[in-house]
Amino acid sequence: MPHPPELRLTAKGWRWQRTGHPWIYRDDLTAPPALPGGELVRVLDHQGRFLGQAFYSAKSRIALRFLTYPEEAVDRGFWEARLKQAIAYRDRVVAGADACRLIYGEADGFPGLIVDNYAGHLVFQVLHPGLERHLPEIIDLLKTNLSPSSITLRNDVEVRSLEGLPLEVATVWGELPPLVEVREGGVHLLVDVKGGQKTGLFLDQRENRIAAAAYAQGEALDCFSYQGGFALHLARHCRKVTMVESSAPALTRAQENAYLNGLDNLEPVKENVFAFLKQAAAAGKRFDLIVLDPPAFAKSRRDRESAVKGYHEINRRAFQLLNPGGVLITCSCSYNLSEPEFLEIVRRAAAEAHRQARLIERRGASRDHPALLSLPESLYLKCFILEVM
Ligand code: SAH
Repeated sequence: MPHPPELRLTAKGWRWQRTGHPWIYRDDLTAPPALPGGELVRVLDHQGRFLGQAFYSAKSRIALRFLTYPEEAVDRGFWEARLKQAIAYRDRVVAGADACRLIYGEADGFPGLIVDNYAGHLVFQVLHPGLERHLPEIIDLLKTNLSPSSITLRNDVEVRSLEGLPLEVATVWGELPPLVEVREGGVHLLVDVKGGQKTGLFLDQRENRIAAAAYAQGEALDCFSYQGGFALHLARHCRKVTMVESSAPALTRAQENAYLNGLDNLEPVKENVFAFLKQAAAAGKRFDLIVLDPPAFAKSRRDRESAVKGYHEINRRAFQLLNPGGVLITCSCSYNLSEPEFLEIVRRAAAEAHRQARLIERRGASRDHPALLSLPESLYLKCFILEVM
């Protein structure tokens, strides 16, 4: 076997690597190697000492993604050990649901790989050429260890273009029905694995949706409802739930989900949430519970200012619309906005709405999406549950 290529970091790159961050940027390599990308390489510090093994990318700004720190063989046994750990961890932390994230990239030791499990139908997102080379082996191991019903690649994510990888959606093994029925707490959901957002569901919010049900009462409003994720959990305990969402197909699926659960108290409203909240406030509407689960307003540092305005506006309006004793469940999935910054926005929103509120829960992504401490990018989801006094 040819000796694996070796890459050297600059002194600055070495200092960065010592923070534990599993990525190395291109500027931190002493010399860009003549490699096509996707190779597993040996990484050396500025003095030539061995630091670990990493996947190399020739295209992305992220030149290296660490796979191991000791020197070890990356063979079938290596991947199987990591896979078994990922499965065992989900067995421990996922209860009452048959849809969850099975592999969460670096946090599970699989840099650039996401695998979601929808009641035995596995969905892959492969974000790195290095991992893509090992895919046949990993797929084979998943078949042996989990006996899935089907395996689908949802490789239609933009980051693949940055890596020079083709975009594709394909079921590569078994049979995938057009809709998969999954269970999440007390709710059943129909999932379009090939056409839905992300890999079908926003799985990172699973525990928050289940938690929301504990506060459900009276009349609720679910803003940015997608296919009714929060709304369905709330509707089992509320008189009425209004779902506001700008995507018509998402709302149609939400209504199918309502029917599937035997619920007839959900009202879909196809509308921009900003406009809806403004009109509702002008009309003097009141709710007992409001969920705000917007898409990431701050996709990059540059959008921060407008994102802060957006979060502030929807939170201020939501506080205005809540009855005394009402509950606000407010989320942000913008990595570029930290938890203290988001809390400050919510605090200011309550003050401007002339409401006193108390913070009941500070939540994050579900436990099947553990954040790797050294990869702050994986710590993105914030969810506060507040009560208006
Ligand atoms: N709460 C959902 C996930 C929400 S994802 C769940 O738990 O499943 C965010 C949703 O907001 C997407 O479905 C998107 O179509 C919708 N959306 C984005 N901008 C919007 C806007 N301005 N008004 C209404 N809906 C919007």
